[in-house]
Amino acid sequence: MSPAGARPDAPRILVVEDEAVMAEVLRDNLEAEGYAVEVAPDGLQGEAAWRRGAADLVVLDVMLPGRDGFAICERRRAAGDATPVLFLSARGEAEDRVRGLAAGGDDYLTKPFHLPEFLLRVEALLRRGAPRGHAHRLQVAGCDVDLRAWTLTRPDGTLEHLGERERGILRLLVERAGEVVPRDDILDEVWGDDAFPSSRTIDNVVMRLRRLLEPDPSTPVHLHTVWGVGYRFTPEPEGPLK
Ligand code: CA
Repeated sequence: MSPAGARPDAPRILVVEDEAVMAEVLRDNLEAEGYAVEVAPDGLQGEAAWRRGAADLVVLDVMLPGRDGFAICERRRAAGDATPVLFLSARGEAEDRVRGLAAGGDDYLTKPFHLPEFLLRVEALLRRGAPRGHAHRLQVAGCDVDLRAWTLTRPDGTLEHLGERERGILRLLVERAGEVVPRDDILDEVWGDDAFPSSRTIDNVVMRLRRLLEPDPSTPVHLHTVWGVGYRFTPEPEGPLK
């Protein structure tokens, strides 16, 4: 996510755009403004990158192969994700603009557009920040998790920092609370297509999360292993699966 040149604290922007030339123009211009930019070339990779990543803003094309921008935004909003979204669309019809805002978008720009206007809107959305309150704050097992600050505060007030994978796995399991989340889903959404960690790597991240969250990490009551399949999170304490 961080190109050479972007400062470590630079705002992070995910660009989901299937037109390669457009994607590169946006990347170059955003990077020139000092932002850290990640580009995803289709809807499925875009949604996975959004879910996995820590973007401060998502620039989301509407017409995308795999899954369209409206559907992606609706799904992320349904999961409680309040990251600001700027829709880009070749379609300028009024009903599309309304649809974009109804899908949870924060702004809407019709192609072709002038780059200075695009950059001003990006800046304005970042300044505004997450507009819907505290969707990035989760209460998990009595702990306060801040997905933006990448921190977890235990019931006794101890502050712990979450690593990228810890944050990703926790977020995914909490979003799908009560469901068994297969390892493959965890790999896709937390690691993406560019890495092939061993099962052991996932186990180690979950073990660390248990040490942070579980009253007794050796007898987990929130983060359950479902042998041979994956993991399951339950908000209320529950004994191990038989
Ligand atoms: Ca497109």
